[in-house]
Amino acid sequence: MPLDRWLAGYIRDVPDHPRPGVLFKDYSALLAEPRAFAAAVDFLAELCSRRRATKVAGLEARGFLLGTPVAVRCELGFVPVRKKGKLPGRTLSRAYELEYGSDVIEIQQDALGPRDRVIVLDDVLATGGTALAAASLIAETGAQVVSVAVLLELGALSGRRRMERDLAGVPLDALITA
Ligand code: IMP
Repeated sequence: MPLDRWLAGYIRDVPDHPRPGVLFKDYSALLAEPRAFAAAVDFLAELCSRRRATKVAGLEARGFLLGTPVAVRCELGFVPVRKKGKLPGRTLSRAYELEYGSDVIEIQQDALGPRDRVIVLDDVLATGGTALAAASLIAETGAQVVSVAVLLELGALSGRRRMERDLAGVPLDALITA
């Protein structure tokens, strides 16, 4: 069975989470099954090699779950992109719109430099707002974003089209599309 179909079997739909009307994709069972989790990490690690990344930037919080084992597997450094106020020292920040409201993400100013080729890693791409904000923040450090990589792309939410429009030339690499 193809990898994406096999792993999709570990994802379940949870209606009305975290708010009424939202269909939440829950992949906890994938993380709980070591062979499935390892296969997802292997896929993303292979992507890092293919894109010749020098750093993995994981998005808080669930981008950390995937980003850290991928970075270790690839022997690359891991850079956390965090919610406002969590990172010490000088930071760069970017505000972005959510489906309901807005948020701010930050990166340490000296975490990346012009020599870095960065893979932006998160669990899910929905509207694309979070990944776009992270990519533009990383670009501000002078580093090059070589991929936005996710475990799961929610096709119906048109994040891919938004990325193609606002982040031309940066590939979106998704293991599973739902
Ligand atoms: P976006 O900014 O609309 O693309 O939303 C992506 C962010 O929301 C990611 O950081 C995900 O962790 C989270 N997210 C959105 N929808 C889901 C879902 O159905 N399951 C798990 N996480 C989700």
